[in-house]
Amino acid sequence: MKRADASNRRKSRFALTALFSAVIFLFIFVTSLIAGGIMLYMVRHDRLTPGGTRPRPEMVIFHMVVWSTALGALLSVLLSRISLYPINRVIDAMNRLAHGDFKTRLAFGGSFGRHPTVVEATDSFNHMAEELGKTEMLRSDFVNHFSHEFKTPIVSIAGFADLLLEGGLTEEEQQEYLRIISEESHRLSDMATNVLDLTKIENQTILTDVTEFNISEQIRNCILMLESKWTEKELSLDVDFGEYQYRGNRRMLRQVWLNLIDNAVKFSDPGGVLQFRITETPENLIVSIGDTGREIPKESMEDIFRKFYQADKSHATQGNGIGLSIVKAIVELHGGKVIPSSGGGKTVFAVVLPKG
Ligand code: ADP
Repeated sequence: MKRADASNRRKSRFALTALFSAVIFLFIFVTSLIAGGIMLYMVRHDRLTPGGTRPRPEMVIFHMVVWSTALGALLSVLLSRISLYPINRVIDAMNRLAHGDFKTRLAFGGSFGRHPTVVEATDSFNHMAEELGKTEMLRSDFVNHFSHEFKTPIVSIAGFADLLLEGGLTEEEQQEYLRIISEESHRLSDMATNVLDLTKIENQTILTDVTEFNISEQIRNCILMLESKWTEKELSLDVDFGEYQYRGNRRMLRQVWLNLIDNAVKFSDPGGVLQFRITETPENLIVSIGDTGREIPKESMEDIFRKFYQADKSHATQGNGIGLSIVKAIVELHGGKVIPSSGGGKTVFAVVLPKG
């Protein structure tokens, strides 16, 4: 199929080259014909040698050169306007794109616009403009969210600091306001770390520091690290998996389990169950982390991996919507994918990691 496509493309490019060659040939042919005609007329009517003698060869060549040049220049000026029209259109479109007009699109009418090579060129240009537009949209979306998320805690810190400065507060109020300032400062600091981590991971194209390690032990350690959080909510654990070795970036994968377990605890109802499984197929290792509690609405399933997206606003202050973006970026860097499922009061995140 691809070979047939390439062969068709080669054929249509050859046809376009032949067409351009034919136009140039026609152009030279018409110029020579007209210049020849003028020469013939001048020789016949004794214009080169008014006395009726035979014209001197150098005279003929001189006139031939002068007339051909003059005619060629005139025809070039007229024809170049037509032949350069598509190139000028492309240059105009490129300039608009360079100046940030990502809605710019190229289209040519008539049979020229239907030629496969022209269709290919316009499609490629339009695709490029569309992709650049999307990148720009993502960038401004990110900047908007980023500014908003950072502004909220800063406003809160500034407000409570002002109240403390005004004085006249009870000891209890002072303690409460200081606690809020401390919490919000930590939230800001965590958010900055998360955003920096995410940017670093997203800019990475090759997985580094790959080692073989016991992934089951790593998950058990992560569960233990978050013990205070799940005991506080009186969650019970359902951990059932054997010992599995995996080759990957140990530090990054630890971050994946910590983020997923942290979410599972956060979105569990008190007294719920956290479930951990590891299964294996010939190609993949699949780690599933499930919880009982808040479900993810179907319409939010695709958005939860977007930066700063929070489907459940009731826990908004306990996170910043970056956790799952980090999880996705790390897993994709390992060549894997994250599959969320939610329903029947249960949410499961399955992390599929390719072996080898
Ligand atoms: P947050 O900082 O809000 O936890 P995440 O990127 O980790 O940000 O998650 C994005 C959103 O996905 C959460 O706000 C929540 O709505 C939803 N979500 C993530 N994990 C779970 C879960 N285990 N159960 C229910 N909803 C979840």
